[in-house]
Amino acid sequence: MRGKTIIGAAVSFCVFSLGVFGIFGVEREARAFAVPEIAAPWLNDIAMAKITANGPVIFYNPSMCKEVGPGVCGFIRAHEYGHIVLNHSNEFYTKYFGGRALAEAEADCFAAKNTQGWQAKATINWFLAPERIDFDAGDHGTGRERAKRIKECRGI
Ligand SMILES: [Zn+2]
Repeated sequence: MRGKTIIGAAVSFCVFSLGVFGIFGVEREARAFAVPEIAAPWLNDIAMAKITANGPVIFYNPSMCKEVGPGVCGFIRAHEYGHIVLNHSNEFYTKYFGGRALAEAEADCFAAKNTQGWQAKATINWFLAPERIDFDAGDHGTGRERAKRIKECRGI
């Protein structure tokens, strides 16, 4: 499938699953932005948002999602959904120096506010695990930075 990658897979921790809406719990608003989620076993990441000729889609790797669990997987899907809803393919984000990091921060904040509490908490703990806490995932930041960001955006 051809299309413009909103945020490259890179070393991101981007995740996802089916039915963004059941997970977000904001069904009324979510339906207006329904984005297909497609299982992509080939994906070298938990999830990825892409703008295709037929509109935006979210690809997710089912085995990686299973590995990280429904909390983190739901959060990463919401993060990808955030990239789409917040129009991160806009050149402000793709060309402005620092725009990609800003897009990642905004997507994390979007996910923090739009996932269920247990999912946000599971993701905070996941990022604070020894193998991720100081790992620098480029534009996404370190696990420590992401956990802090999620807490602040969620107000917990
Ligand atoms: Zn992202």
